[in-house]
Amino acid sequence: MKKSTQSVHAGTRRDKNMGGLNTPLLASSAIEYLDDSEVRYPRYFNTLNHDVVADKMNVLEHAGAGLVTSSGMAAISAIFFGLLHSGDHLVLTEGLYGGTHSLIVNELQRFGITYSTTSADAKSIEAAALPETRMIFLESPSNPLLTVVDLHAVASYAKTRGIISVIDNTFATPILQNPLILGFDLVMHSGTKYLGGHSDLCCGTVNGPVGLIAKVRNHATTYGGCLNAQDCYLLERSLKTLEIRVNRQSSNAEKIARYLDKNKNIKRVFYPGLKNHPGNAFATQQMSGYGGMLSFELADDRDPITFLRRLELVKCAVSLGGVESTICQPVATSHQKVSEQERTRLGITAGLLRLSVGIEDVEDITTDLSQALT
Ligand code: PLP
Repeated sequence: MKKSTQSVHAGTRRDKNMGGLNTPLLASSAIEYLDDSEVRYPRYFNTLNHDVVADKMNVLEHAGAGLVTSSGMAAISAIFFGLLHSGDHLVLTEGLYGGTHSLIVNELQRFGITYSTTSADAKSIEAAALPETRMIFLESPSNPLLTVVDLHAVASYAKTRGIISVIDNTFATPILQNPLILGFDLVMHSGTKYLGGHSDLCCGTVNGPVGLIAKVRNHATTYGGCLNAQDCYLLERSLKTLEIRVNRQSSNAEKIARYLDKNKNIKRVFYPGLKNHPGNAFATQQMSGYGGMLSFELADDRDPITFLRRLELVKCAVSLGGVESTICQPVATSHQKVSEQERTRLGITAGLLRLSVGIEDVEDITTDLSQALT
């Protein structure tokens, strides 16, 4: 079936006795086990409402198994701490989400896990690998500069070396990009963003082959980052409209990127759908749309804070991927914890703004941007 149909139907478990169309909400942390094939408990990530979301994501991401966690960071932590050991080395692409960067730099290092950071170029990623490299972790498109990696090349290299390849697919969503089909081992999402989609949930997902997910789950069960049943239920409900939301956001963003690219008050636009974006060719190959996220730098004579305060429809807020358009200044939000020196090196300047395009009418969004710019 097509993704719009899968988004609505995959995973749903109806209660035939009651006749409702939706999966019931199992508000129980104590579950009978004598007649079940496994012991179920919320922190084991295997109650009815966990399973249903994991199953829907398995279908959308073409995975054998999956896990639903209490945040995107819980998903990333479960992957790192579940699969890496002291002495292992990790290759990362630069410009990852600030929280992921902090987890690696401040936490993993304390446990004897080393890392190298490289540009998004597949050859540089290969060159950064050491004999003890156990994992490659990247985002594509990345937060906030929308850098795109040649996913097939990286996954193929990782396979030849027995390195686990992991991608944060938050910006693309399973609607626009399926990294497991391109050869990646694991795909994770901050479900707080597009999967939840209504700016009212904090959650994460990990999907991949049965064996790797079992390892991640084993460790995650001990660390405890599980999602409660009510939020699993809300996530399942949100996912039913994922395809329709994401395609609308992506087509809106494409139009806005072209509009901003021609605007004299804007210095530069970062959007993989623009021909002048260095990742345009790979994005065209590996994504079915360029996504709802874009960043831009204001011209030097425009003050970012004044611009943000003048916006009326587009709200200045952290997070992204909701039905409403939101904007933020990465130096003050997602990348606040990254050192100034590193931010400057990456090109994350004070004038850089990250726009999460919503499902509103595109003309209303551009009218708001235009009045605030001028
Ligand atoms: N990955 C990306 C690309 C993100 O943007 C974020 C949060 O902004 C995360 C991971 C972390 O997700 P969460 O805030 O749900 O823990």
